[in-house]
Amino acid sequence: MKNDCNIIMDLLPLYADGALSEASKELVQEHIGFCEECANALKGMQESIKLPVNKEVRLNETSFIKGLKKIVFNWKLLTGIMAGLSALLLLVLSVMYLNHKTTAVEYDGSNIAIEKRENGYYLRYNGKGEILFSAGGNRESGEWTIEFSQSLWGRYIDPLYDRDGNCQWFCEEGMITKLTTMDGKVIWEGSEEDVEAHEQWLKERSEYAGD
Ligand SMILES: [Zn+2]
Repeated sequence: MKNDCNIIMDLLPLYADGALSEASKELVQEHIGFCEECANALKGMQESIKLPVNKEVRLNETSFIKGLKKIVFNWKLLTGIMAGLSALLLLVLSVMYLNHKTTAVEYDGSNIAIEKRENGYYLRYNGKGEILFSAGGNRESGEWTIEFSQSLWGRYIDPLYDRDGNCQWFCEEGMITKLTTMDGKVIWEGSEEDVEAHEQWLKERSEYAGD
């Protein structure tokens, strides 16, 4: 019996590897059918063969997949950030372009007017959107010239906000007596009251200046 066991023990590694001939295989199977010692030895062998290999493979697979997932995640994150930055850049450039691109607005006799309020004179634009202006004047006479322009933003985006965009503060009371365009069209000429306010305004300024 013990002798048989020694032979079987020698064959077991080959049996576990499936490398035995049919005849030898049958011999081993027959023996482990009644010999618990050899059956247990085979069991231990099969486990010790399988486990480490599987574990290692599984470990390698998971770390590989983890690495792959990490790369995919990083790539997604990167492309996400790039897409976000591109969209932001496009938005900034669009806003810059819309604000930068301006066209002149001509005074046609009714599209622009001066409005007097408590805290000064306001420019009212009766067209669509918001206009920009550039003005220069003579302090003593209170006569000012002005020109108007409009950005694409002012024309198309500002009206969307529906704020009081077409009415904007121009100057304090007493500062102007007359407002004309660069080519000499009179937009507004002050009444006697406005001229008096201007004289008063001048007087106050010269008193402050110590004249
Ligand atoms: Zn045995």
